[in-house]
Amino acid sequence: MKNITVVGSGTMGSGIAHCFGQFGFDVKLVDLNEDALKKALEKIWKNLDRQVNKGILTIEDKAAALNRIKTYTDLNLAISSADLVIEAATENQALKAKIFQQIDEAAPAHCILASNTSSLSITTLASYTKRPEKVIGMHFMNPVPVMRLVEIIKGYQTDEATLSAIEELTKAIEKVPLVAADYPGFVANRILLPMINEAIETLFQGVGTVETIDEMMKLGMGHPMGPLRLADFIGLDVCLSVLEVLHQGFGKDKYAPCPLLRNMVASGNLGVKTKRGFYDYSQNPKQPVPLTF
Ligand code: NAD
Repeated sequence: MKNITVVGSGTMGSGIAHCFGQFGFDVKLVDLNEDALKKALEKIWKNLDRQVNKGILTIEDKAAALNRIKTYTDLNLAISSADLVIEAATENQALKAKIFQQIDEAAPAHCILASNTSSLSITTLASYTKRPEKVIGMHFMNPVPVMRLVEIIKGYQTDEATLSAIEELTKAIEKVPLVAADYPGFVANRILLPMINEAIETLFQGVGTVETIDEMMKLGMGHPMGPLRLADFIGLDVCLSVLEVLHQGFGKDKYAPCPLLRNMVASGNLGVKTKRGFYDYSQNPKQPVPLTF
């Protein structure tokens, strides 16, 4: 596989494009408008720079990586010669269904179709295509250039050739593929999101403050980042939609999203990407200020 198309250039899509560009793949990055793509390229530039400063990459490596990433607003054009399409658009079933139908129609027959979905069924996404055996989940972790895990989700009809090709490709970008079956939340988010939801519920009930909840989990459990800060980082809208999928998929109240999370999403306070979530990121991004609820 040489030609990789990434659909969606937000938090995750930009990171995925960065990694494939870094490891020598030709990347086509797609979004709805030039503004989103410009922001994505700026972010990739900044993150590559960070790797140069840490001595991971040379200036030449950075330039070569950037050179391999081309941007597109025309999806059909961007997938016409793709070996692999990784969909990393907004977490929305109807939107992803539409994208998968379009990709299936326009991508070459040999092309594998992957989704970076946090929680939606890969088997259902595959049902919108005529090549369900070539549809698979590639769930990258945030921030993509730093985190080594890729959770690989084998849909009900994903074949062994697709699975092994994706495992090999994941290793080629120096990440670790671990396979999960296709059930709500797969493995990683089925465990992570209930913990984040419980942290929000704990805040909602006034049992602890943003700071005490996060510090307890850091100092007491050895987590590198507290659950509320992590929720801001993931995006509160993404957290809410994963919890909805777990709640609906298992039909158990233990997955019901906290009302505070719903209010924050409804009011557009989505975390780092809107500069306000459980912390205020508008003042000093290095030291976000915990908010009072
Ligand atoms: P995001 O909101 O940062 O970015 C989504 C991007 O998709 C936006 O730039 C949007 O303009 C674009 N988009 C929407 N419709 C499109 C279309 N039809 N064609 C092309 N682009 C389109 O979201 P994100 O956090 O990057 O999440 C993307 C996916 O990755 C979601 O499925 C999410 O569940 C998953 N994911 C997110 C995280 C995380 O920590 N944020 C982690 C793992 C997986």
